[in-house]
Amino acid sequence: MKVFKFGGASVRSAQGVKNLYNIIAAEKDNLVIVVSAMGKMTNALELVVNSFYNRKPDVMRNFEAVKIYHNQIIDNLFTDKSIIEAYINEHYNNLQLILEGEPTTNYDFEYDRIVSFGELLSTTIVNTYILSQENQSKWVDIRKCLITDDNFREGNVDINLSKALVKKAFNFSEHNKCFVTQGFIAGTLTKQTTTLGREGSDYSAAILANLLNATSLTIWKDVPGVMNADPKLYKDVTIIPQMSYNEAIELSYCGASVIHPKTVKPLQNKNIPLNVRSFIEPTLKGSLICHCEEKLDMPPIYINKANQVLLTLKPRDFSFIAEERLSKIFSILAAYRVKVSLIQMSAISFSLCIDYNKVHFNALINSLKTEYKVLYNTDVELISIRHYTKEIVEQLVGQKVVFVEQRNRTTARFVVPVQ
Ligand code: ASP
Ligand code: MG
Repeated sequence: MKVFKFGGASVRSAQGVKNLYNIIAAEKDNLVIVVSAMGKMTNALELVVNSFYNRKPDVMRNFEAVKIYHNQIIDNLFTDKSIIEAYINEHYNNLQLILEGEPTTNYDFEYDRIVSFGELLSTTIVNTYILSQENQSKWVDIRKCLITDDNFREGNVDINLSKALVKKAFNFSEHNKCFVTQGFIAGTLTKQTTTLGREGSDYSAAILANLLNATSLTIWKDVPGVMNADPKLYKDVTIIPQMSYNEAIELSYCGASVIHPKTVKPLQNKNIPLNVRSFIEPTLKGSLICHCEEKLDMPPIYINKANQVLLTLKPRDFSFIAEERLSKIFSILAAYRVKVSLIQMSAISFSLCIDYNKVHFNALINSLKTEYKVLYNTDVELISIRHYTKEIVEQLVGQKVVFVEQRNRTTARFVVPVQ
């Protein structure tokens, strides 16, 4: 069997759902189809969470916007809406019940139980559409079999607990050849809804591929495959037809958004090939990530990681940055779930490039300030160039002010101000 994953952009309209159907209908093998929330619905549901949690009056208006979006897709997909109404209304009613209640003090808990409706709704629409086309398909509530701890918004999947449950839920047989389920969301043993972190659907798909011993995972994207640079930022980009798992892990670590950082490992562990293909041009082969030679003839690959902050810490008492201090700094970073992209240290200072997180930023800085003088630049980006050449470095950063620079044999990295 194969796992296919469709992201939000692929199902942002009725046309997108029909296109998904054409892709899966052409597939002969048994399938698990993992789907994200439609279009920008995760962002729209984040607005619902924020108004609900902060008891703002626009909760229901924000909820209404979510309903209107899905209803319009449903209108364009089904002539007979009675086949989907009951399922969709059940989700709407469940969300309505939450919103009519009182928020707890745990924001992350509220976030997961509300934002998860994006995936519940999208998979219900996709599954019902497949059925309406006289094709067999079964909807699986992944929260009942993909089990995490209660680290809301970044649940840690318990592989051992999930294994048997996943196998039981996706029981392929003569009559069950196609399953539709949610990416990004999961559940605890006590039936609380959790999520795996923004953009986590690729990771869900990779875990399912691993647990079900899939022959491959295909992620259907709006780009023709893994490119050597972001086509939205650069002209003349080229597709990389094949690369090793390790190359893909390095790329996603550098910030290549085409693959979620956690996705590759579950596949690599079981040697499951990963295809990245275009849902816009499904006849193209795309990129294949597999167990292969780490090719030496790779083109330069450049990645701009935006939304970074460069932090520099200096001990207030002028003592040297020592290991003991570093472990303290890292425990503060971990407590605020800070994602560190680059580290550089000298005897009296420690610099880090981190992802900017609006929610925790001020608290993080205040916490570091108790022991350190903290300097920071927001509005910086991290440019990473894999397989760099002198020419490409000159072309990409030659004219820029460079705050921090690091190079090893394969990768050159530069922290520069955003222009
Ligand atoms: N819908 C979720 C998000 O937008 C998960 C995903 O798309 O992978 O973050
Ligand atoms: Mg999404």
